[in-house]
Amino acid sequence: MSYESCELQVLNPATEEVVATVRGATAQDVDAAVVRAADAQARWAALSPADRARALRRFAAVVDEHLEELARLEVTEAGHTIGNARWEAGNVRDLLDYAAGGVERLNGRQIPVPGGLDVTLLEPLGVVGVIAPWNFPMPIAAWGTAPALAAGNAVILKPAETTPLTALRLAELALEAGLPEHLFQVLPGEGPVAGNALVEHPGVAKIVFTGSTRVGKQIMAKCADRVKRVTLELGGKSPNIVFADADIEAAALSAPMSFLDNSGQDCCARTRILVQRTVYDRFLELLAPAVESVVVGDPADEKTQMGPLISKTQLERVTSYVSGDAPGIRGTAPEGPGFWFPPTVLTEVDPHARVAVEEVFGPVAVVLPFEDEAEAVRLANATEYGLSGSIWTRDVGRALRVSQAVRAGNLSVNSHSSVRYWTPFGGYKQSGLGRELGPDALTAFTETKNVFISTEA
Ligand code: NAD
Repeated sequence: MSYESCELQVLNPATEEVVATVRGATAQDVDAAVVRAADAQARWAALSPADRARALRRFAAVVDEHLEELARLEVTEAGHTIGNARWEAGNVRDLLDYAAGGVERLNGRQIPVPGGLDVTLLEPLGVVGVIAPWNFPMPIAAWGTAPALAAGNAVILKPAETTPLTALRLAELALEAGLPEHLFQVLPGEGPVAGNALVEHPGVAKIVFTGSTRVGKQIMAKCADRVKRVTLELGGKSPNIVFADADIEAAALSAPMSFLDNSGQDCCARTRILVQRTVYDRFLELLAPAVESVVVGDPADEKTQMGPLISKTQLERVTSYVSGDAPGIRGTAPEGPGFWFPPTVLTEVDPHARVAVEEVFGPVAVVLPFEDEAEAVRLANATEYGLSGSIWTRDVGRALRVSQAVRAGNLSVNSHSSVRYWTPFGGYKQSGLGRELGPDALTAFTETKNVFISTEA
């Protein structure tokens, strides 16, 4: 275990200026936080459901009052467009409200048995560790935190190294809203130090991890050692399947932002555009101007559609996938300081090439032609991932057949939506384990206890 503290430098990705320096937590800090959290959790779980629900609604209201401030902080530390950042802060508020509504509805069951009464109790797990990535720092932190608190747990959140500021602010707002001290603690720090200490800590009952498949596998292995509960939300390489019978114009015009939103740093990005061969040329004709006209620039400008990548490391990674002379469509990006990469669509790509199978996590998509429905499904499933995908067709039967055949957790037909806080979200295959959000979000943070009471004693 490492007991060494570190300094985390937070950069504005649009300017490369240092905006804050934050102390990284050590394993010792995690130990102390777990002790405090366990104490707070016992008191929190003993409150009446109505009191816990009210406290979470107050937290939601305080987040709402600070929505613009939180959004601006997200623009500064993550380079998100201001429009997206406002949505993200609003998503935190909505999640807290939604989870608050679940506290009084977290019902067990009564199961008919002879000789007595059988009931199930849904009990909180205890202390939950939430390890969040940098690509959607606020919403993803809240996806784990809000339902875990609502189900009676305490939460220790470890934000990503590059984006700790909104998380730290949310912890302050929780206290301002009157949530018990130490119930929701934020420990910024390095993954292998603070993150790992949470994973290994015997006092942490569950880990909710969102991040790369590589780290997710390591965490799952460590959790297995302790039979620790774990939810994993990992990578994606999602298909956008366009059939010849679709509204081709709508499909082509909506395709750019389905992989350029958040500069492509989105686990649901539709980065494999599969187009039926008979409409392939027409689709590309429509796609090219739509990609070229995407407004890339200062994320604080209301008109901007795409900002910078998060870091120099990410820029180098994305650049390694695209050779300068590769055929395709390219948009524009600012020059000078900041981690900029232009919107890029590659054509004439070998379906087995790295860029066609690996998660780039940047504004890069490939377009691949297919002949018929069977080939579309085969190509869509030819990936180790299975997070999301889109299907464009006017044929209802085909929409249903392909929705059933594509092995992914979140599909949308004639649209690219995938995340709503009141519908379940999660991955097939190596995109993850378990589900977040939706009506069952709270039960993922409980143990089911079965109690039989004899009527014959
Ligand atoms: P990452 O795996 O590098 O880091 C994620 C988090 O894990 C960070 O907080 C990091 O500090 C921590 N971490 C790193 N090593 C650790 C260790 N050994 N032990 C414990 N914690 C550790 O991922 P990233 O680069 O921050 O995020 C990008 C990835 O996240 C992409 O692959 C993306 O697809 C995925 N993602 C998935 C979803 C989803 O819901 N499925 C959502 C967003 C992002």
